[in-house]
Amino acid sequence: MPVSLDTIVSLCKRRGFVFPGSEIYGGLANSWDYGPLGHLLKQNIKNAWWKFFVQEREDMVPLDAAIIMNPRVWEASGHLENFSDELVECKKCHHRFRIDHLLEAKGITPKYDKEQVKVPAEVTCPDCDGKLTEPKAFNLMLKTFLGTTEDSSTTVYLRPETAGSMFINFKNIQSVTRRRLPFGIAQIGKCFRNEITTGNFIFRTREFEIAEFEYFIHPNDWEKVFEMWLGEIKRWWRDIMQVDMDNLVWHEIPDGERAHYSKRTVDVEYKYPFGVKELHGIAYRTDFDLSRHEKVSGQDLHYTDPETNEKFLPHVIEPSFGIDRMLLVALLEAYYEEDAPTSEEGETEKRVVMKFPKHLAPYQVAVLPLSKKEELAKVSKPLAQELRQHFMVDYDETQSIGKRYRRQDEIGTPYCITVDFDSLEDKKVTVRDRDTMKQERIAIKNVVEYLKDKYNN
Ligand code: ATP
Repeated sequence: MPVSLDTIVSLCKRRGFVFPGSEIYGGLANSWDYGPLGHLLKQNIKNAWWKFFVQEREDMVPLDAAIIMNPRVWEASGHLENFSDELVECKKCHHRFRIDHLLEAKGITPKYDKEQVKVPAEVTCPDCDGKLTEPKAFNLMLKTFLGTTEDSSTTVYLRPETAGSMFINFKNIQSVTRRRLPFGIAQIGKCFRNEITTGNFIFRTREFEIAEFEYFIHPNDWEKVFEMWLGEIKRWWRDIMQVDMDNLVWHEIPDGERAHYSKRTVDVEYKYPFGVKELHGIAYRTDFDLSRHEKVSGQDLHYTDPETNEKFLPHVIEPSFGIDRMLLVALLEAYYEEDAPTSEEGETEKRVVMKFPKHLAPYQVAVLPLSKKEELAKVSKPLAQELRQHFMVDYDETQSIGKRYRRQDEIGTPYCITVDFDSLEDKKVTVRDRDTMKQERIAIKNVVEYLKDKYNN
């Protein structure tokens, strides 16, 4: 049976993956803090993404741009004018909702052209059934002020995506790296949107992280490059994130529902416990962004092909991934409940195990001395220290060994190493595999190599 969101939320809190933000002050509007394990998991997802989409390719360069940029960036991109959702308010309880979400819940497809959205009579307030106002545009940009005065001349915005900074740095990057098309600029960073309704845990928050790249191409190549990236994205989900591909839905956005500048967009959706919803997307954005920045900045952003001397504005394919949604998917995919044997006589008990792909697990190995006795610590502590040179290591010497195994299963540690009294004699330790629960005796001097082998396969 698929795991419920509540089960994941409570495991996350209990084990230290994700805590409610500002909890001792009663929280803050669906904000979340990644605890020790959540941080490690997120870092591993970001590293894997970076390795797959940037490091292992010859056609990608990195960027780490400012979160706050000149507001004209957002004027050019259209965010100041158009980055809004249509909001309706309940006339009775005054709760506010996105009309597209309410329509979607009733199976009505909202049109992209939001001007046309009307509230049908059967759509009422989901909280109190009250009547709703007609929709009005609500801009999602989060504002702040730079400097000591607070007025329109000092108003700036926290970026709602990272793409803008990649377009405005295109010319700089292309000239200093002497890149020829096609090439991409990649970035991972925090983004902010003043969402009307947040919720479903870390699925929709006002502060979140995006990993994305702008891939600059000759306009004639867009169809084949789009296909190439779709193939790579499938490989990412199948081989690196190792998700059940049946849980993904590849939603080709039809004509009339795409942004006006996009000739093709595919939303990659996931079957979450709260419904099939967007996980991330890939869009062909034509030369919309560079042409807008050229117009508003007055700078020439054209590219000249060194072989043909053709001068043109590059077109762009943009795959964009929400890190927090990928982390949520990693948690949902990893969760298993199994009956595990507790004795030779066939008795069993329920074990919860997070079967993360090994390279994503927060800790790669745990060192568990059988008891707190000094003589065992003399072996287990230096072993843990040696392992720390290669892996993230958890060290735990409290409670019974059975409970400690259960804890490591629940946080997804692929290998547990037990140091017992025999270890003092035979200089060996027991290595337990998270998924099979099989145990092997390995010589202490070979443990690092043994684990490195496991991680390389
Ligand atoms: P949605 O339709 O769910 O609001 P979107 O189409 O506005 O998403 P994009 O603008 O394409 O999203 O943003 C790129 C990616 O960033 C999304 O696919 C998603 O993974 C992530 N993302 C967007 N908004 C949020 C949010 N409020 N909280 C968490 N992740 C988000």
